[in-house]
Amino acid sequence: MCEESSGSVRSPAMPEVVVAVDPPPTAPEVVTTRCDKCGVRSPLSSLFTLVKASSGLSSICPACKRRARNRFHLVLALFAVGMTLAFFTATVATSSPDERTYSWDGMWFPLFLLFQYVSIVPHELAHALGARLMGIEVFQISLGYGRVIATWRVRGVVIEIRAIPGIGVVRGATLRMNGWQWRMIAFIAAGPLANAALCVAALWAAGELPHHWDGGHGSEVDLLWLPLALANGVLFVTSLIPRSVETPAGTAQSDGSQLRSLLFKPIASPELRRVAYFQSRGTILYAAGDADAATEIATQGLQEFPGDVSLQWLLANAHQDAGEYAAGREIMLRLLEAQPAAGAPRAAMLNALAWADLMLDTPERLEEADRASAEAYALTPWEASVQSTRGLALVELGNAAAGMPLLRRALRDAERWEHRAVVTCSLAIAESRLGRTKVARGLWAKARRLDRKCELLPRVERELRPVTLATS
Ligand SMILES: [Zn+2]
Ligand SMILES: [Zn+2]
Repeated sequence: MCEESSGSVRSPAMPEVVVAVDPPPTAPEVVTTRCDKCGVRSPLSSLFTLVKASSGLSSICPACKRRARNRFHLVLALFAVGMTLAFFTATVATSSPDERTYSWDGMWFPLFLLFQYVSIVPHELAHALGARLMGIEVFQISLGYGRVIATWRVRGVVIEIRAIPGIGVVRGATLRMNGWQWRMIAFIAAGPLANAALCVAALWAAGELPHHWDGGHGSEVDLLWLPLALANGVLFVTSLIPRSVETPAGTAQSDGSQLRSLLFKPIASPELRRVAYFQSRGTILYAAGDADAATEIATQGLQEFPGDVSLQWLLANAHQDAGEYAAGREIMLRLLEAQPAAGAPRAAMLNALAWADLMLDTPERLEEADRASAEAYALTPWEASVQSTRGLALVELGNAAAGMPLLRRALRDAERWEHRAVVTCSLAIAESRLGRTKVARGLWAKARRLDRKCELLPRVERELRPVTLATS
């Protein structure tokens, strides 16, 4: 349920970079894999997951896999809350009103489930504290899966709460290399150790406190302490099992897996650790909406590692976020030249290029936006950002009816409200082009509520203005 990244978080939505291979001399027929859940097709079959189904093996696209995982964690959380409420109600209902003591014995299991969620918080805070004590910069504390419902920045740390509980992630790294290995070990070990300490403390309390508190019904107090001890014991053990963990930002390694690497595997070179620091710090600042700080970190990293693709990609994205689309586009074009192989990285680059073209908003860029967004969509049609760009490109090309279904799908999957605002604005433009001004105006108001600084709001207003003048 928890995971730390000591560094290498890849830049915004940038998947694993594959080694460029020359395209074969004769273009073979493109073989595509189809997602058996949503029906999208892509030639990148390695990105699909094979799962057992009643009719044999079925292929699932990354978006359907993510949705299934989110649904699983939502059901689990609702089950824990539902069980607690059901047991609570049943206990109260079956006890006669003049009885002062109820039998709460059945509550221990639902409470154990609830405490598992609650105990993720001290686990992550202990990681953050451990990092601070070891002189490691904490970049981000993220709790949960699915849509982001709240974010803050507290003393430079981005805190992010998502809708579905079940995971916690602390991201941090450092440029100071002396004693790096042992400081990282302390940072990673602090989380599981906090759960072990809480487990022991709760066991002690269960044995000691009832004598002072119970007034004759000790089991009521045990009921709180024993499930708390068990929940923390389970978290301690599960976090130390070496495994890969699916996080909202991609696959990461469990505490146990990272400790094993730090203790028994060769340590990455100082250069790799330094470049990972810049990538991680910059990516999190970018995701938190601080384009200026992300640009600064990317620039600083590129002075040391000018050839690093992830940092160039980050810089291009940060430029675009700051509204410097021409600068972003130049970097994207260079990156694409070095990445001719059809794959997820190329799709992400094409998508960003098309977005820059659309935002530059000149007729001569529209053709490039069309070509790039079409190719990106052919490669990774399940990505919300790709659907959103392709959707707006189609709208701008005069085919709002074709763009609309893509935009609706993007709106369903976009997890950050800034992205939801962008897609809502795109939908407003599409509705306006189709003559449904009232609907468009409603969407404009909705996008404004989601993100007042949304870069597409002025465009929607421009779109709606002539109509407003005509009707007033
Ligand atoms: Zn942890
Ligand atoms: Zn699918």
